[in-house]
Amino acid sequence: MKLKNKVTVITGGNSGIGFGIAKAFQREGAVGAIVGRKQQTLDRSTKELGDNFIGINADVTKMEDLERIFRETSTKFGKIDSVVVNAGGAVEGVEMGSVAVIGEAEYDHYMNLNLKSVYFSVQKALPYMKDGGTIVLIGSIAGHRAFPGQSTYAAAKAAVISFARGFSLDLLDRNIRVNVVSPGTIDTPVFDKFLSAEHVEHVKNLWTNLIPIGRIGQPSDIGQVAVFLASDESSFVVGTEIIADGGALNITVLK
Ligand code: NDP
Repeated sequence: MKLKNKVTVITGGNSGIGFGIAKAFQREGAVGAIVGRKQQTLDRSTKELGDNFIGINADVTKMEDLERIFRETSTKFGKIDSVVVNAGGAVEGVEMGSVAVIGEAEYDHYMNLNLKSVYFSVQKALPYMKDGGTIVLIGSIAGHRAFPGQSTYAAAKAAVISFARGFSLDLLDRNIRVNVVSPGTIDTPVFDKFLSAEHVEHVKNLWTNLIPIGRIGQPSDIGQVAVFLASDESSFVVGTEIIADGGALNITVLK
C-alpha cells in the first residue's frame, strides 16, 4: 500500500485516464475526491471506488469551483497529501484545427481548460495541502511533437510540462514535489467526444500504428506512473517528466 490513508484529489477522476489514476490510488490505500462536471459518471465512478472516495461536481475553469474542491476535500478528510491535475483534453463542442482557421474563442477555450485551469488548480490547492505533499500534472507527448490540428492544445501541454519545473522550484520551501506524466495515445472516452461512432475504431487504429510496442495505452498504464510520482518511492524525483507512450515519441519502427 504505497498511498495508505493519503488524502488525494484527482481532477477529471470520473473518466478515462483520471478514473484509471483514481482506481490505482484507491488500490494503494488512498482516500479523497474525484472531480468532474457530469453527475452521472461522477456517481458511477465514485460508487466503483467505494466508501473512501467522494465525488465533487465542479468546473476546473471556474475559480470559485476550484476553491470549493480543495476546501470540501480537506474538511472531510483532513489536509491533502496529493493532487493530480488531470482534467483537460478536448473541449466538447469546440473545434481544434489549423492556426489558419482557429480564432480567439476556440483559442481561449483550449487554453482555459488545458493551461489556466492547471495553474489555478495548483494555486487553490496549496492552502489545503500538507508540506511534503506531491502534485502530479498530466502533460502529453503533444507537448513535444506536432500532431494535426492540435497547436493550441499542444502549446498548453508544453507549458504544463514547464509548470512542473517552475512549481517545484516555487514550492521547495514546503517540500512539495511537482512532476508531470505525459501520456501517448490512451484508450479513453475522449475519442467519442469529437468523432462519430463509425470513425472511432479507425482513428484509434491510426494512432495505435504510431506506437512501437504495438498497442494503445490504457488508463491503468498512467495510473501506475501517477502512483509512483505521488508516493515516497519517487522521493528524489522533482520537477521532471515521465513519458508513458509505448515508445511513440522516441522510437521509430520501420514497417
Ligand atoms: P476524458 O475526456 O476521458 O476525460 C477528461 C476528464 O476531464 C473528464 O473526467 C472530464 O469530466 C474532465 N473535465 C473536462 N473538462 C472539465 C472541466 N471544465 N471541469 C472539470 N472537469 C473537466 O479524457 P482523457 O482521460 O483522455 O484525458 C485526461 C487527461 O489526459 C487530459 O489532460 C488529456 O489532455 C490527457 N491526455 C490524454 C491522452 C489520450 O490519448 N487520451 C493523451 C495525452 C494526454 P466531465 O466531462 O465530467 O467534466
